[in-house]
Amino acid sequence: MNAGPAGEAGEAGEAAVARARAEIAACGRELLARGLLSQTAGNLSVRVGGQFCITPSAMEYDRIIPADVAVIGLDGRQLGGARRPSSETPLHRAIYASRPDAGAIVHAHSPYATTLAILGEPIPAVHYMIAATGSTRVEVAGYATYGTAELARAVADAFPAPARAVLLANHGMVAVGATLGEAASVAQTVETLAGLYYRALAVGTPRVLTDEQMADVLRAFAGYRAP
Ligand code: 13P
Ligand code: ZN
Repeated sequence: MNAGPAGEAGEAGEAAVARARAEIAACGRELLARGLLSQTAGNLSVRVGGQFCITPSAMEYDRIIPADVAVIGLDGRQLGGARRPSSETPLHRAIYASRPDAGAIVHAHSPYATTLAILGEPIPAVHYMIAATGSTRVEVAGYATYGTAELARAVADAFPAPARAVLLANHGMVAVGATLGEAASVAQTVETLAGLYYRALAVGTPRVLTDEQMADVLRAFAGYRAP
């Protein structure tokens, strides 16, 4: 396979790409089992130096093996993988270009997040765990046809750092993280919050935490990690 840019070339770069491909194949199965992904909907990617690895297009997650995962240069050229890369490759590329903090991306059509995206409803601070998304509100990016440069632009513009998630109108959600595990965790949090907000909306008027309450949460949350 083609070598990456300086610092990524050679065996170390090859090994990092191999690790990322294996991680993507395994994560796809895991998120499928958790109900975050279904059939061929959604896509996963991991940045490796000046390249990124991304799921193949239109393949069920339980069939994807590491060799199916495509390798793309940040200039958009396919550098590895026999399969056609995800149709959302432009979207992943746009996010990596605008978000140096993004090491991995999860795009999913998970049921509750997509329900709110269909309603055009951002997720407000209805639960303190919204802090895990890096923001106090998950916004909705405007609609554009899947796979287009227009969608890529709309999404990349809709969640500037430090926000780590965004809903895609009438489509789904995108979550980013420093690692694929982190992006998957943010995606899971968004789906859980969307489910809670949906249920609360169905039976009453959700109460939203104030800016002051969320400021306290953000301070506390900065230190929330396993010892
Ligand atoms: P791909 O199978 O091409 O990744 O497309 C799935 C999708 O979610 C498009 O938005
Ligand atoms: Zn999609």
